[in-house]
Amino acid sequence: MSVLVHLCRGCGHQSAWHEAGNGGYTSCRCCRAGSADPDPAPTLLPTYSSPHGIREPLWEPGTQRNAGTMHASRTCDCAQCHEGAEAMTRREHPSAAPRLVGLSGR
Ligand SMILES: [Zn+2]
Ligand SMILES: [Zn+2]
Ligand SMILES: [Zn+2]
Repeated sequence: MSVLVHLCRGCGHQSAWHEAGNGGYTSCRCCRAGSADPDPAPTLLPTYSSPHGIREPLWEPGTQRNAGTMHASRTCDCAQCHEGAEAMTRREHPSAAPRLVGLSGR
């Protein structure tokens, strides 16, 4: 599943990497220091299903991921992420857009 994340303006890594407990996964000093400077605008981290390479749908902001596992996390729930997710959902489902009337009646 694709996710929206906030990247640290200091090092360019996900702000989640800076949280306690994730520091062991990276050698980045900024991340290990534990204080991110997150960019308020979210960045899309797309994932692709194999073998077809189709982009997977986006996690809704505020979704609990991997509940019950050690990788449990919640997608960011801020207004920017909601906006970004909404914009992308609109793009991915053109059938949800208003129908063009008048093309079929000829
Ligand atoms: Zn950082
Ligand atoms: Zn970093
Ligand atoms: Zn966010």
